[in-house]
Amino acid sequence: MSIEISRLQKPIHLEGLDRYEPGKPVAEVERELGLRDVVKLASNENPLGPSPRAMAALREALADLHRYPDGPATLLRRELAQQLGVGPDQVAIGNGSTDLIDLLARSFLGPEHNAIVSEGAFARFRQVVMARNGRAHLVPMRAMTHDLPAMARAADQRTRLLFVANPNNPTGTWNRRAEIEALLGELPPQVLLVLDEAYHEFAREEADYPDGTLWVRRGAPVVVLRTFSKVYGLAGLRVGYAIGAPEIIEALDTIREPFNSNSLGQLAARAALTDREHLRRTVELTVSERGALASALRSRGLRVLPSLGNFLLMDVERSGAEVFRRLLALGVIVRPMGAYQFPTALRVSIGLPQENARFLSALDQVLAEIPPA
Ligand SMILES: *Cc1c(COP(=O)(O)O)cnc(C)c1O
Repeated sequence: MSIEISRLQKPIHLEGLDRYEPGKPVAEVERELGLRDVVKLASNENPLGPSPRAMAALREALADLHRYPDGPATLLRRELAQQLGVGPDQVAIGNGSTDLIDLLARSFLGPEHNAIVSEGAFARFRQVVMARNGRAHLVPMRAMTHDLPAMARAADQRTRLLFVANPNNPTGTWNRRAEIEALLGELPPQVLLVLDEAYHEFAREEADYPDGTLWVRRGAPVVVLRTFSKVYGLAGLRVGYAIGAPEIIEALDTIREPFNSNSLGQLAARAALTDREHLRRTVELTVSERGALASALRSRGLRVLPSLGNFLLMDVERSGAEVFRRLLALGVIVRPMGAYQFPTALRVSIGLPQENARFLSALDQVLAEIPPA
């Protein structure tokens, strides 16, 4: 007996959804193009690798892999709460922070509710809301930055969530403390502000870049998302966390998968949290290379957005897809931005000095091959 797939009709709000396009894996590019020494600057990963402490903890944990993880990730929650100055009931753990984005949409959006999302914001916001109920209200950016006053004006009686990535991926741009303060003053009381701070550790040296947990500690309707995927170098283990009021955390815990974070991820995250040296080296390298790469690109006449993340968004003044393909053929993986409606832009992650140099020389070669559009 065969299932009649044609009779399994998708609900209307799932028609035509786009899927998340991740950066291409190194092994796949090497296999497909017959290349070696491929450089990946496409997923904002830590070029220094995982914390050595995390790797040591993992080796010891392998013998216990027959056991289920601690479902609530009790110790990781407690240690994060302590570091952040909140209660353990104010931290939820996700299978990456993208898991938490999805859990927020499923916890707080009923069929009739909507969410406010910026155009040019991290694509997952729009995608999870569209998959949930199709009611993502998109607000244009202003100067390639979340336009918070316009987003506040877009909120109505049925709005439950308002997403802001600070700094935003893929633009790297950010909103200042006073702007977020003003947004909180204008939001209707039933709206929860989701502040995605995946790049917080790279950004916090900037004077008026705000730490969103400040509003959580004050009891404002804010939930902050952070991750072990970026500065901590643990993207492969999928650990992210949310910081918010106990009622919000309770809602996420009620609907999450019982074992949404795995035992290796929990252990590695706890070890990485204690590794201040790895964190410091990563931020130092990234901030200095980010400045150097931005200057090098601008000296070539390219427009580069100011960024507080571990990546840069640049306008290559040619088809971004074409430049992406040609860089790929030279063994350099970056991210084209067609999905974000930036057809002539590329996003490049900050790598090791030699990786950034590889990217620059490959880019010089490719830009010389194609005339500006
Ligand atoms: C990378 C990123 C994430 C994090 O992803 P994980 O699921 O934790 O790996 C979340 N938000 C933004 C804006 C990001 O760029």
